[in-house]
Amino acid sequence: MSNSRNTFTATVLGFPRVGPNRELKRATEAYWAGRADAASLHATAKELRTAQLTAARDAGLDSVPVGTFSYYDQVLDAAVLLGALPERVAGIADDLDRYFAAARGNAEVAPLEMTKWFDTNYHYLVPELAADTAFALNPEKPLAELKEALALGIPARPVVVGPITFLKLAKSVDGSDLLNRLPDLLPLYEQLLGLLAEAGAEWVQLDEPSLVTDLTEAELAAVRSTYQRLAAIEARPAILVAAYFGRLGVALPALAETGIDGIAVDLVAGGDADLAAAKSITDKLIVAGVVDGHNIWRVDPDHALPRLTELRDAGVTVAVSSSCSLLHVPYSLVPETDLDERLRGWLAFGDEKIAEIRVLATALTEGETDALASARAAVADRKADPRLRVEAVRERLATLDADATRRAPADERRILQQERLNLPLLPTTTIGSYPQTSRIRVARAELRRGEIDQAEYDTRMRAEIAEVIAVQEEIGLDVLVHGEPERNDMVQYFAEQLDGFAATVNGWVQSYGTRCVRPPIVYGDVARPAVMTVDWITYAQSLTSKPVKGMLTGPVTILAWSFIRDDQPLADTARQIALAIRDETVDLEAAGIGVIQVDEPALRELLPLRRADQAAYLEWAVDAFRLATAGVADATQIHTHLCYSEFGEVIGAIHGLDADVTSIEAARSHMEVLDDLNAIGFDLGVGPGVYDIHSPRVPGADEVQKALALALKAVPAERLWVNPDCGLKTRKTDEVTASLRNLVAAARALR
Ligand code: GLN
Ligand code: ZN
Repeated sequence: MSNSRNTFTATVLGFPRVGPNRELKRATEAYWAGRADAASLHATAKELRTAQLTAARDAGLDSVPVGTFSYYDQVLDAAVLLGALPERVAGIADDLDRYFAAARGNAEVAPLEMTKWFDTNYHYLVPELAADTAFALNPEKPLAELKEALALGIPARPVVVGPITFLKLAKSVDGSDLLNRLPDLLPLYEQLLGLLAEAGAEWVQLDEPSLVTDLTEAELAAVRSTYQRLAAIEARPAILVAAYFGRLGVALPALAETGIDGIAVDLVAGGDADLAAAKSITDKLIVAGVVDGHNIWRVDPDHALPRLTELRDAGVTVAVSSSCSLLHVPYSLVPETDLDERLRGWLAFGDEKIAEIRVLATALTEGETDALASARAAVADRKADPRLRVEAVRERLATLDADATRRAPADERRILQQERLNLPLLPTTTIGSYPQTSRIRVARAELRRGEIDQAEYDTRMRAEIAEVIAVQEEIGLDVLVHGEPERNDMVQYFAEQLDGFAATVNGWVQSYGTRCVRPPIVYGDVARPAVMTVDWITYAQSLTSKPVKGMLTGPVTILAWSFIRDDQPLADTARQIALAIRDETVDLEAAGIGVIQVDEPALRELLPLRRADQAAYLEWAVDAFRLATAGVADATQIHTHLCYSEFGEVIGAIHGLDADVTSIEAARSHMEVLDDLNAIGFDLGVGPGVYDIHSPRVPGADEVQKALALALKAVPAERLWVNPDCGLKTRKTDEVTASLRNLVAAARALR
């Protein structure tokens, strides 16, 4: 490096923050519920940060990110930092309460919208900006966390969302081009850098993951000018720009031209695309993200080390790092004592990844070590495990012909299905789940504590199903559901029953705010050893003469909400899962079930960040769904369900799924999705959610009728289904019953 900055050798780009045992979640929820005060929440947070930063330093990281801690979300933190919270929360005097109001809303104000953080399952809050939003620097949080870390003797590197990403992720509430706001924002960043330098920061990390997405010429120019300008500040820390979740492409040389001091490149998600370009950047620190921060496999040293060596031998100053923040993996493997021993040896969670980074950094300077040899052995052991290649599964997939993904034309199917189901015009149904009653929660807890056995648990779940069926009959719905009481989660429930999947006991990952999920791990070839849902659905069907929908989760969604294999293309894993789901649909049909719903709420979620990669994804995703659903007869009606998202790029794929009926969460978007579907010639059954279940308000029949009238402008009555949005699970029984009564009344009135 040309300047005299201190450099470093081993780091990560960020940490998980909910606590190894979700301590922050509990403390935050206690604060919200009024059971604890702000001081005790702050104390928990400080304890967690202290333990984490100290452990990271002691594990040998010589630069430790600080400020990746958050009470809710890092983008919201950036909005606070830049004084860009919406006007409607400005009147709330208390800092913490104002912050949480922006995150979650309260009786008076609506929260910020929440959306997916790039291609992860983390969700951030979307800042609302306009041409006249006044910015103001509130540097207290980064400064306080920096000082706290320095006092502990941590080689602290403050982390802040960078200006380009902040503006790109924000929503323009007045339609203005937010890139125009850069000149107003940069003075704040300049001021912040000065303050951090003054407080003792040697390095600062500006997170710019937006740079791995497709950038316009104007945006690329903004990258250059922004970092040229920030680098020109007199007294500032060394600047590391971190871009992750993909390849930087043209943004890498753009950054390289500027006077910043380091660039973090994602050599996992970005593949080798940026490696060659990075080799010529000899005047900056290259923070090489070779340890996957987004997945849980141990690093292959024979993959990582040669890349690090290549960079070093080209004259590059290299630090070893995670590819992205460790926010997306669980804390530690230590609690996972129930995992299959052999599988456990192949895994690295947060703490283990930090250790791997240290091992690689040491090997880079000192050569072969014992730790390196054992890492190699673990990778070899994984490759050799027979569960990774189950020939029976592979042969079945290889011998499927093209017809395996094709059914008769939809018009022909519709006639056969109507003969079988004999449904009225505007048939009514729901999306699958019914309220999770306290009885269900009690039964689950008692089973977990061993107070009841599986048979007793099953008996209680059957009682729930019987009640849900009786209520739906009484309400007068046309296609019933069993209510999903037996499912802990729509993915884990299937993962637990499929070969090739493993579940963790404490592998929590933040989804948003205090909400955490425990993604299953798909490690081997997937197969379905036994039926998964047939007993429950046939029991429900035995209680009624109305059709009951079989309820399954689709292959893309199972994949999207799991830790995935990194040793074969995603498409291959998707086909294996699809085959298992297909087996289940065939068994449901054989057991007399005439309507089967295969949920794909995550279809949009896996969409690649770069446009050039999207068509290939959509092709295999659609193919997997069709493989999962084309094994049944034409008279069996296939439904699917999609949660609300920006359907834009995936609208054609929704048609491609070729489901007889598609229900879509739509109430909040005022049925706009129907016009989008029409625009591509969608001619299948569709059930746009007619009321927003997220509101505790019971919609009147007239309100539902209005929504239906709106829908009927876009969809002929013969294709329109009547259903609420998804998520009944989260509501109370009385609300749901009252709302569905009105929904049925509205459908009847229109018929
Ligand atoms: N069948 C699921 C349910 O109704 C679908 C969940 C979802 O939309 N994500 O709960
Ligand atoms: Zn949904």
